[in-house]
Amino acid sequence: VQLGDLDEAEKHLAAARELNSGPGVSLLDQAKTAYIAGLLASRRTDDELAMHEFGRVVEMLPRVSAWRFSDRTAVYDELAAVYARKGRYHDAYGTQRRSSEEYRYNVDVLNNVRHFSMQLRTEMNRVQAELRRTAQERLSLQSEQRQLRDEIERGASEAASLKEAATTDKLTGLPNRRYLDEVLPALLRLRQQTATPMAIAFIDLDHFKNVNDHYGHPMGDQVLRGFGEIAMHATRNADVMGRHGGEEFCIAMVGCGPEAAAKRLRALLKVFANRNFISGSQNLVGITFSAGVAVYPEDGVELEHLLATADRRLYEAKRAGRARVHERDFLVEAVANIAK
Ligand code: GH3
Ligand code: MG
Ligand code: MG
Repeated sequence: VQLGDLDEAEKHLAAARELNSGPGVSLLDQAKTAYIAGLLASRRTDDELAMHEFGRVVEMLPRVSAWRFSDRTAVYDELAAVYARKGRYHDAYGTQRRSSEEYRYNVDVLNNVRHFSMQLRTEMNRVQAELRRTAQERLSLQSEQRQLRDEIERGASEAASLKEAATTDKLTGLPNRRYLDEVLPALLRLRQQTATPMAIAFIDLDHFKNVNDHYGHPMGDQVLRGFGEIAMHATRNADVMGRHGGEEFCIAMVGCGPEAAAKRLRALLKVFANRNFISGSQNLVGITFSAGVAVYPEDGVELEHLLATADRRLYEAKRAGRARVHERDFLVEAVANIAK
């Protein structure tokens, strides 16, 4: 049609009609065939036919969205030209308006698409930035958590070493008075719950002041450390032993009655008395201790009472000549024996 060879165009149109007849032909193909037929009729100035064919296309247009919008406006333009030629200016004007409406509509759609795609891109940028920020935040959160965990661990180990320092005697490395005060009540409560006996012993080194006076304070320290070592070897896992103060020590022997406790303490005394202490060029051997023992439950059930009893028996052991273990009230027994 465009080249002006209308007969040739007619042949092709006939072929197209052939192809596009029958069921299953798409609306787009039907519309295009009608459009070409309209064009051809219009070029041959068969205006009635042209109006008929273009009219069919216009009817189909709303349902063929796949048709490019420049072609859609062309349909209206061609139809308007036929109307004009026929002197139907009012129809020509109306058709032209529909063409420009179609055009405007498509421009609007295009603008909308552009607008949406811009919005979409902005939104995508925002989401990506958000993701980046979230990832960064997670990283910094993780490192914060790590720092916090390290701090807690450091704090816990500091607390543990502080606690250790607060409950350990520097000189001997034994638990100190504070530790004993904390643990002994709990240990006794446990005995009450499990109904097992427990012996508590106070140990005091004999004539220790003389050691300091004759051999010097460093030798005194050596003796204290030595006692600590020996006593540590002699205690069992369940026992609690510590430096009660000065040259006094305390041992709680779990599961021991008076005889068993005294036996263990006498063995300890023997080892201690045979131990050779060295300070500088000086040698010292034969240091002894005295001990008083009280046993739960036969001597009492209250910790204070048991401690007081052990202390009293220690004092009695000193008065009886030192270097001995008193696990009973020997004085009372002696008086009772004399009475017999
Ligand atoms: P007793 O047989 O009656 O117990 O006589 P003692 O001399 O052992 O008794 P006393 O309580 O009079 O003496 C205890 C001495 O222990 C006095 C004090 O100087 C000494 N002492 C206490 N703590 C330490 C210490 O950490 N190192 C040294 N070297 N001596 C200490
Ligand atoms: Mg003392
Ligand atoms: Mg003493």
